Amino acid sequence: MSKIKTVKGTHDILEEDSYFFDEVISKATSLCKLLDYKKIQTPILEFSNLFSKTLGLSSDVVSKEMFAFIDQGGEHLTLRPEGTAPVARALVSNSLHEKQNQKFFYYGPMFRREKPQAGRLRQFNQFGVEYFNQPSFLCDIEVIFLANKLMNELNISEYVNLEINTIGNFNSRKKYQEKLIQYLHPYRNELSDQSKKRLIKNPLRILDSKNETDKKILSQAPRIGDFLDKESQIFYEGLKELLVKLKVRFIENSKLVRGLDYYNHSVFEFISKEEKAQNTVLAGGRYDGLVETITGKDICGVGWALGIERIILMVKKKLSVKNKIIISIFSTSDNLNHEIFKIISDLKDLKFISLNIIYGGNLKKKFVKANKLKSSGCIILGEDEYKKKELIYKDFITGNQLIIKGSSIKEFLQKEHFKNE
Ligand code: ATP
Ligand code: MG
Repeated sequence: MSKIKTVKGTHDILEEDSYFFDEVISKATSLCKLLDYKKIQTPILEFSNLFSKTLGLSSDVVSKEMFAFIDQGGEHLTLRPEGTAPVARALVSNSLHEKQNQKFFYYGPMFRREKPQAGRLRQFNQFGVEYFNQPSFLCDIEVIFLANKLMNELNISEYVNLEINTIGNFNSRKKYQEKLIQYLHPYRNELSDQSKKRLIKNPLRILDSKNETDKKILSQAPRIGDFLDKESQIFYEGLKELLVKLKVRFIENSKLVRGLDYYNHSVFEFISKEEKAQNTVLAGGRYDGLVETITGKDICGVGWALGIERIILMVKKKLSVKNKIIISIFSTSDNLNHEIFKIISDLKDLKFISLNIIYGGNLKKKFVKANKLKSSGCIILGEDEYKKKELIYKDFITGNQLIIKGSSIKEFLQKEHFKNE
């Protein structure tokens, strides 16, 4: 029989990866909660124009990667390709911008119809944070600090570099863009096809071209740093100064950019040190015009998003799976099966164990199954023991078998566990 496949570019998250997925979410969530970021869950389906407005018609995502369709009711809908626009929409849809705290975190699946390859999927997961309504660079510091702490917590700091840049405010960028176009004009026929298009539609994005000829041409290109006005300089210098004080290591990369008008000032990415194609694990920056683009409300923002699948590839090398202790449990008589569920209710607080109930088969078969499940031990409820309010515990590691009072099974397992720690 031929294998049943998943849709191209999608995958099942299983076993070890599922464990690491939860670890990433749990560590990131704890850090966000420590700084009072509120969890937000937005729908996977949004109106298509939310993304065409915010990401720009010429962006890769909108021009060719969106899973967009017209539904049976004639609505133009899209499976969200990213989280910032939906969160910004939700901020205003729910009048959250009138509240004091406007810091959010989210995670969940995103959809882009890209060419699938290592670290690039059509359905992938992001964890992200957004901090609205605070124009100070201190908020940029806060979100970078959060991202940096997360890299530490996940034990992958040594595998990544933090790269930062500024794209200044609108005026500085406008001046720079003119100079960049002037510089590139004589080379326009040598540029890659994509950069040729960008020269007209989105010149700043040419800076992060991966094409070797483009890179050579760009090596002598003017730098945004030389075109910053006072406001942009103060912002960027303040940011760098504080990062140094916080001992957050970073590399300045003058070619790190975002292409759209509503992005400004800081741009940052955590990039894997490994030489490989999909090496950005977390990308962020300031987007002071984005909320206005969607809602007409002048609300600034800064945030980042990390690719969970890309992080898992790194985390796997550093963290080990902490398996719970598996304990099997069964009764020797079908009449007592309901009692098994009572015992489980009593043991529900023991976070370090997973209980496997074994149904059917004779005693021998039950033991074989318990072994196959890699159990450390087995709780057995027999007719005689039930009458005496007792249980049998068979330790698979030592081979010992003990009779335990039914009421003290929890304390017993707790003690056993600490003995093995
Ligand atoms: P890239 O340059 O790798 O295409 P991007 O600029 O499109 O990334 P963002 O939109 O900034 O990415 O998304 C933030 C993060 O989400 C990325 O740094 C990456 O870790 C992850 N990501 C983006 N697209 C994909 C994808 N198709 N599959 C898996 N992860 C992805
Ligand atoms: Mg992309």
